[in-house]
This record gives sequence, structure tokens and C-alpha cells, in this order.
Amino acid sequence: MSMTLPERLDAKLFSDLLARIALRPDAASPETAPLIAPFTGEKIIDVPTCALADVTHAAEEAHLAQKAWRALPAKRRAKLFLRFHDLVLDRQETLLDLIQLETGKARRHAFEEVLDTAICSRYYAHAAPRMLASESRQGAFPVLTKASVLHPPLGLVGFITPWNYPLSLAITDAIPALIAGNAVLLKPDQQTPLTALFAARLLDEAGLPPGLFQVLTGPGRTLGEPILDRVDAISFTGSTATGRIIARQAGERLIGASLELGGKNAMLVCEDADLDRAVRAAIVGAFTNSGQLCISIERLFVHRALADAFIERFVNQVRALRIDAGFGDEADMGSLVNAAQLAKVERHVRDALAKGAQALAGGRARPDLGPYFYEPTVLDGVTDAMEIFSEETFGPVVSLYRFDSEAEAVERANASAYGLNASVWTRDTKRGFELARRIEAGTVNVNEPYAAAWASVDAPMGGFKTSGLGRRHGREGLLKYTQAQTVAVQRFMPVSQTPGGDGAAYRKRMTDAVRALRRLPGVD
Ligand code: NAD
Repeated sequence: MSMTLPERLDAKLFSDLLARIALRPDAASPETAPLIAPFTGEKIIDVPTCALADVTHAAEEAHLAQKAWRALPAKRRAKLFLRFHDLVLDRQETLLDLIQLETGKARRHAFEEVLDTAICSRYYAHAAPRMLASESRQGAFPVLTKASVLHPPLGLVGFITPWNYPLSLAITDAIPALIAGNAVLLKPDQQTPLTALFAARLLDEAGLPPGLFQVLTGPGRTLGEPILDRVDAISFTGSTATGRIIARQAGERLIGASLELGGKNAMLVCEDADLDRAVRAAIVGAFTNSGQLCISIERLFVHRALADAFIERFVNQVRALRIDAGFGDEADMGSLVNAAQLAKVERHVRDALAKGAQALAGGRARPDLGPYFYEPTVLDGVTDAMEIFSEETFGPVVSLYRFDSEAEAVERANASAYGLNASVWTRDTKRGFELARRIEAGTVNVNEPYAAAWASVDAPMGGFKTSGLGRRHGREGLLKYTQAQTVAVQRFMPVSQTPGGDGAAYRKRMTDAVRALRRLPGVD
């Protein structure tokens, strides 16, 4: 099986991108690792692997660049991201080619990343300077104490990111870190370095100072620890298992760690749901990027009163999905990313079928389309004896369950170690809101599978339980890359008792003052 690359992906582009890797200029020939295209299993190029000395060199350069960068006004730093926003939209065809080349996803799913990156850039470019400005807080004593909170940057922030959304997840969390005045060390997944390097070049073109944004390529196993040793905070997106390793290392160094991890997300379809919309949403929720999406739907709970009608329409539409390789806009779903992902999906489905589940649609690999393709699959009759019941599959497989009452649906949705995203379907949005607040998940979408909460970038996004620690997006996703520094200016008289003074008079004055404050609104 051989692949014709779009014209934009030529040898010159690849060599320019590899030149952006943070290798020391004087280094001997680095080791390399082959980059495989999931559509065909063919090698695209060999990518240099960074060594320990490269991490040290990149961290030094980044620290140096950060000194001048942090001194600029936040507005100046932020403005650059409006230029980046425009470049991402203007160069989207090349971005889409690279994302598809490295992940094997359908072009329509790659476009979600372009959109997301533009939305985040615009949002933080406009909102961040205001959030980073110093804030006045209530001082110890009115008039006497003026307290302000400043938000200086942390310094150097490390980003370790996965392959499934190689543009969004490598860049959108780094944008607030940069606007806050930090430098960045980014280690993208080994499967997706080119997309991250292209984004780095767009940042250069937008005017980011040299040295500030370093991209290190290679395995997390060897580069993770040296990166964690050199940064002032780490932002990690990936599996819960790796998240625990990162958290331990960050704990040892006492640096902040923000962790965006796995999910086993539920969709609840109430008996008054709009059936057609809910069916289409279940398809988007379960099969976008072949289910390799942290917030995708793997558990589908449908009210028994509407289950038969729902299942019939859902299964028919799943069977009609167009799965294909290629750089056009036609495919509804693309490939899985690699052999390990395919093996996990096959293992989960095989285990479920062997223990009595039925595949209502799909259930097979499609080697005729490419080495890692797998059909969109709907399982019925899944029980807690099966791996797929509780483990994240991260593939195009959804399990169907019927429920009789809301209370039962909420209890079963919450019976998971994860708590990343959920979706609730009802025509009564007030009821949807009430149901949503009972679900243990960082984001809950009412009448949308995942995008409404994700794209509301002014609101925080992250996981309950083992789905993560910390939040991306909004004020929370910016201020985590800063210190909170309180500056209190005291006037006229001191707060503390000074040596040699009249102790009894001081006690009386302070007791009266504290009693007076008790009566002031907003102080108690
Ligand atoms: P992974 O944890 O294997 O890899 C993610 C990154 O960590 C890669 O860059 C990898 O090189 C690096 N890494 C691996 N071992 C490491 C180590 N010991 N030390 C430091 N770094 C290491 O995850 P994956 O399988 O590539 O990604 C899929 C997982 O990511 C799924 O569980 C998915 O749910 C999760 N995810 C979560 C979100 C979110 O926002 N919550 C988003 C996307 C993906």
C-alpha cells in the first residue's frame, strides 16, 4: 500500500521542520527514529532524537529568552497571538495535511484542531492582559493597608503532549503560558513531531522571540525526567498511567503539575430527547478521530422507553459511515494511529464478545483500507465482567446500556474511576442542567456530545477523579502559569506591636479595631 502525499508536503518542508528541533548546534549526528504514516504503515522520514545535553541546552536558551520576554507588557506579548491566529487559519491546508499524515485521522476531524487553536489564540490574546493585571484586594485595615496581587510568570514551563490532537494539545495550553511571560519546552509525542514543529514555525513567523519556544523530539521515557528536572512547572496531557509518573516526579521537585488524563465518558439519553439529534450526536461523540479523543463517548445510556427506536437508527447510521484513508474531505472516519491502539481495541472487543456481548455494528479490523483501520463498533450486553466496561478503550467502540430512571442513569454514569466529560440529552434544558450537576465530570454538555464545553474556552476544562488535576482554559488555565504575589503597602501606623510601646494600649486599640471591622459589611 503506498501513499501519494499532497504537494504541500515536500522534502523541503520536512527538512525545514526538522531544522526547528532543539538540537545543540555542535552536536554529532543524533540518533533517529522512523516516523510511520498510519494510513499506509509507510515510513515518512527519520526524525532526530534529542539527547540529555539537548534538553540542557534548550532549557538554557529558553531561560535567557524569557528574561527579555517577561519584561514586555502583557498586551505586547498577547498581540502576537492574533497574528498566530491568522496564520493558523491561512495555513490550514498544510496543517491539516501534517495532522492527517501523522495521525491518520479524517480531514474533518483534523479541522477541529485548527478551529480550536484559532479560538484559544483569539480568546487569550484578548482576555489574558486583563487577567494578568495586578488586582486590588481587601487590606488588613481599611485606609491603612493597601493590598495588591501580582501575577509574575513561573519561568520555564514544560509541556509533554500526546499524539491524538497534535496541534491543539501541543499549542493551546502553551499559549496562556507564553502570554503570562514564560518560556516553553515542548515534547510532543514521537508519532507527531511535524505538526508541533510546523506550529512552532508559525509562532516564529508571528514574531515570537528566538529561543522562547523549544521543541524537543524523542521518547517520553527518556526525555520526561530531564525535562521535569529543568522546568518550573509541568503541563501534561496523556494517559492516567503516565500522569501518575509525572505527578510523582513533580512532587519530588515541588513544582506545579497540571494533568489532563483519560476518560470513560458517558452520554445519557432521556426519554424526552430529540431522537434524531441524539443519534447524530452519539456518532460524533463515539467516532470522532476513531474514538481517540479523551472526551469521546464510550458509554451510551438510553432510556428504555426510547431504546429500540434509538438503537435501530443509531446502528443504521453507524453502518453507513464512510471510513477511508486519504487527504480529501470525504471520509467520516479515518484510521487508528498505530498497531498498539489497534491491538487494544481488538482485545477489548474480543474479550467482550467472548463473554457474551453482541456487536450490533462493526467489530472488525479493516486491513483492506490500511494497516490500523477498525470499523466503528456498537456493543450491546456489556457487563462488569468485561474489560471494556471500565477501562478506557480509546477507539471506535461504544457500549450501549438501557436505564429506567434518572437516578439509576446518574449512578451508573458515575460508577467509574474517571470523570472527564459527559453528555446529557433532554428537550427540557432545566432538567438537563439539574442532571448535569449530579454527574461527576469536569465538563458536562447538555444536548451536545463534547464540543460545547470544550469550545467555551472562557470556562475551565479538566478532570474529576483519575481524569486529572488542574484545569485548562479560562482564568484557571492562565493563572496556573503564574505565581500569586501579594504586595501590601502599610501607611500611617504599623499592624504589629512594636517593642517598648504601651502593650495594654495596643491591645485595646486593636480589639476596638477588630470589633469595628466585624460590623463592616463584607468583612465577616
Ligand atoms: P501517553 O501517556 O502514553 O503519552 C503522552 C505523552 O507522554 C507522550 O508525549 C509520551 O512520549 C509521553 N510519555 C510517555 N511515557 C512517559 C514517561 N515515563 N515520562 C514522561 N513522559 C512520558 O498517552 P497516549 O497513549 O499517547 O495518549 C492517549 C491518552 O491521553 C488517553 O488516555 C487519553 O484519554 C489521554 N488524553 C487526555 C486528554 C485530556 O485533555 N484529558 C487529551 C488527550 C488525550
